[in-house]
Amino acid sequence: MKIQYQDHQLIVFESELMRTTCTLLIAEQHLFLTDPNWLPSEVAFIAQKVDELRQGRPVYLFFTHSDYDHIIAYERFCSTAKVILSQAFLRNPNWRDQLRDIEKFYDQYYLIPPWPVVYPQVADLVIGQPAEQHVLAGDTYHFYQAPGHNGDGLLAFHEASGTLIVGDYLCNVEFPFIYYSVAVYEATLDRLATLLAELPVRTLVAGHGDLTQDPAAMWQRLQDARWYLGELRASTTEKRPFQEALLWQKYPHFKTIQGQYHQANLALMQRELNG
Ligand SMILES: [Zn+2]
Repeated sequence: MKIQYQDHQLIVFESELMRTTCTLLIAEQHLFLTDPNWLPSEVAFIAQKVDELRQGRPVYLFFTHSDYDHIIAYERFCSTAKVILSQAFLRNPNWRDQLRDIEKFYDQYYLIPPWPVVYPQVADLVIGQPAEQHVLAGDTYHFYQAPGHNGDGLLAFHEASGTLIVGDYLCNVEFPFIYYSVAVYEATLDRLATLLAELPVRTLVAGHGDLTQDPAAMWQRLQDARWYLGELRASTTEKRPFQEALLWQKYPHFKTIQGQYHQANLALMQRELNG
């Protein structure tokens, strides 16, 4: 499996599928694993790394949100890790859809599910407040609710390494995919702007594509996401075409599939404006 980035505190694994990332923080007294995914051989690779590195230390298993690609390996790690997720994640009314999507994925590619397909129903730490701080095995983490992409996102910031894990926000390989609400997504971008301004972020890891350690690139990603939502809102309100040429200039890859996500975003914006 590709290791996109590695230093003594942080490993970012990258799946061959949709450039999905899995973040492993290596702290003094624990490991903090985020969204292990997708393919069975890739998850086995991640699990082996975790086993090599853990040396008796506790492992925390954090999910940025409940989309099926991010929770697909829950069952592989849940019995040996402490699970962290949002209250909204546990209350997701459409949780069965995520299970169905995992089953469909394995089926579609003739993969035998390597472990039972399970949706997390319990957790060791449930984040219910808009912002919470927790000390986990000696290290301080900040968690923030981040709905908009879907209904139950969470951001996590690890103080000791300066790592901000943002799930499917601020990806360089995709514009905002909005399954939940444009207005709520905009509020989460405002939250991200505050965090980038106030926290000592050294590394920003998004759910798909490249991490960045360049503050200018972090702000550029935020600006591009805001541009997209602004144009989505303006073109729909003014009943004019979206400036698609500009969209594909900013996000030039995977146009066939991303064009479908863009159409779905336009439809969602229309429904949202119709109330
Ligand atoms: Zn994703």
